[in-house]
Amino acid sequence: MSIVSELEKIVSEEFVSSALIDRIVSAEDSYPYELREEEVPYAVVMPGCKEEISQILRFANKEKVPVFVRGSATQLAGATRPHTHGIILSIDRLNKLDIFEDYNFFECGAGCIVLQLAQKLEGLGYYLPVHPGSRRIARMGGTVSNNTSAHIIDASIGKPSDYILGVEVVLPNGDIIETGTKGMRRPAGTDLTKFFVGGDGLLGVITKIRMMLVPAFKSSYAVAYFNNLNSMARGVQRMYYEKRPKPLLMEMMDEKMTRLGFKASGLPAPEGAIILFESIGCSREEAEAKRELVIQSLEAENPIKVDRLKGIDEWNAILSAREVIGSLLCQESGDYSKAAEVIPNLKYLPEATEECVNFYQGLPICGSLDHYLYAHIGAVSLHPGILIPGDWDGEKKRQAITEIMEREAELNLKYGSCGGEWGQFSKRTSFFIRRYGKEGYEFVKNIKKAIDPNNILNPGVLEGYR
Ligand SMILES: Cc1cc2nc3c(=O)[nH]c(=O)nc-3n(C[C@H](O)[C@H](O)[C@H](O)COP(=O)(O)OP(=O)(O)OC[C@H]3O[C@@H](n4cnc5c(N)ncnc54)[C@H](O)[C@@H]3O)c2cc1C
Repeated sequence: MSIVSELEKIVSEEFVSSALIDRIVSAEDSYPYELREEEVPYAVVMPGCKEEISQILRFANKEKVPVFVRGSATQLAGATRPHTHGIILSIDRLNKLDIFEDYNFFECGAGCIVLQLAQKLEGLGYYLPVHPGSRRIARMGGTVSNNTSAHIIDASIGKPSDYILGVEVVLPNGDIIETGTKGMRRPAGTDLTKFFVGGDGLLGVITKIRMMLVPAFKSSYAVAYFNNLNSMARGVQRMYYEKRPKPLLMEMMDEKMTRLGFKASGLPAPEGAIILFESIGCSREEAEAKRELVIQSLEAENPIKVDRLKGIDEWNAILSAREVIGSLLCQESGDYSKAAEVIPNLKYLPEATEECVNFYQGLPICGSLDHYLYAHIGAVSLHPGILIPGDWDGEKKRQAITEIMEREAELNLKYGSCGGEWGQFSKRTSFFIRRYGKEGYEFVKNIKKAIDPNNILNPGVLEGYR
């Protein structure tokens, strides 16, 4: 039996590749090291519908071949990289979009690209409540599997799961199910959607997502410059303690990143580190009034200055300084940027900010490397970043990533928190066990075993073999 010819029978020759280059490219992810030989898949398959996915999973179960689901492979905790030979199942072709304004929801294929979807909705006056830095390429299936709203502040408008009415899923045994509702009210009690949205891709392949239409907001924008990260952090604490309306987005960059990002975006060199934020409301006046309340909290901590931005163009220029910085640093140096995700308690945000400035200090492998700090500071989520030299050998790069994840785990254990982006397993499995105990881990393992007894779908994610 040839895996490739069996897959061709299901999806046709056109949508199966066994070319070595496709197999390698389709198994790599955003990690800086190359694939090991045992990670190279047998084939890449690109099904066009749920029925084909069902047949692929039935075949994989019969032959006990692992299936690794792949969106754009931008997940940052290693979940998209296979650890053993298998089939890569690409969801790229599941890109249909239906917008049902009379039902107040849209349905999109899991392969829809986040930014393209956001722009289509925007054209009709709606907002997509999902905003990862990778949105130009990230797909809805991967994003929903991790249930990440990304830059969006949880305390402002919530996570994707707050808007998803239901999903269509192919279970690991090939059964196809629909969850949730076509109404505006989500199920009370058992809601199968919750097994898959934020399910880390363990329990099924999401093929379609039904999500509420969220009316676009009016926005107002500001940037605050601080010469001291401690004051900046205290300003954010105040925003919460003084019961201010949380902005939709509130990002920060340290002084070094700010300087580089502004230069790359053609903006004049600023002084200090920045916080940039977007306040929202039903009217411009409401958004501006909310912005003023947030500014009051920040101003109480003596920023160098606060600029009220005139509109979306000024905002986009500064936001792009924030969004391009990672790739810019990599392009300029030939190195790889990598960050940890530290989620402190609000109470300790200033101390944690200091800790994240010193995140790499004393680490045997990464300790001497160039590092920086950026954050979804309004969401109280910090990303101490680093540049891993491109000329290090693969093993050293792997060790560097492990070292970073261990340090991240230490801090999140200390705060009793957990990652709010990038999923809970793969490189974070050992953290999960320490955080929730063997009992918590067994609970997930038992669910996985019940739904996927042959461990066909995305094996290795739960086990942390990445
Ligand atoms: C430059 C950059 C910036 C980023 N910024 C952010 C950010 O700001 N916030 C944030 O949260 N994350 C961010 N990320 C990571 C983020 O998790 C991903 O970008 C994105 O959400 C995943 O989409 P993807 O299509 O790449 O999924 P993939 O990486 O392909 O998949 C992610 C996981 O979901 C599984 N999966 C994929 N599709 C399906 C499906 N249809 N059914 C079941 N399982 C599936 C995969 O097997 C894998 O386990 C960033 C990544 C990069 C590279």
